Amino acid sequence: MRTVVYPGSFDPLTNGHLDVVERASKLFDRVIVAVAQNADKSPMFTQSEREQQITEAVNNFSNVEVTTFDGLLIEFAEMKKAQAIIRGLRAVSDFEFEFQLALMNRKLKKEIETIFMMPRESYIFLSSRLVKEVAGLGGDVTTFVPPNVKRALKSKLD
Ligand code: ADP
Repeated sequence: MRTVVYPGSFDPLTNGHLDVVERASKLFDRVIVAVAQNADKSPMFTQSEREQQITEAVNNFSNVEVTTFDGLLIEFAEMKKAQAIIRGLRAVSDFEFEFQLALMNRKLKKEIETIFMMPRESYIFLSSRLVKEVAGLGGDVTTFVPPNVKRALKSKLD
């Protein structure tokens, strides 16, 4: 059983995240999307709202589950018996931070590999932060997020 953890804030989930989930679900037997408390101090959605949104959006993938986690990622991954952690890589700007994080996690537990996945080109510039900004200014986010997230953004902003 090959298990991978895909951690993140997902505030909110975007089609870029979903693209990574789909790719991971083809490579691993089990994908655990792990929703972090808040990397950012004031997330727009609570951890359980984010968990709920992702659960709905990944409904059609039979080997993907969603859960929240607090504390050290590497311990969470170990507890779940995961062989690897997946992170998404977009433009060069992600690289330095992701590289540091991966090497730190390797120091903490060398058996768990970090794997990077690139989304399809149209999602390379997509981020949760931009989605919130566009939605906040009344822009259309239909092509950036799944329909349930679009509705959640609308009701949060109304
Ligand atoms: P974090 O706060 O952990 O960076 P995010 O929710 O912003 O959480 O992102 C989770 C992971 O998904 C990160 O590895 C990030 O690089 C990746 N990611 C975010 N947006 C995209 C995207 N458009 N395409 C591919 N990967 C992405």
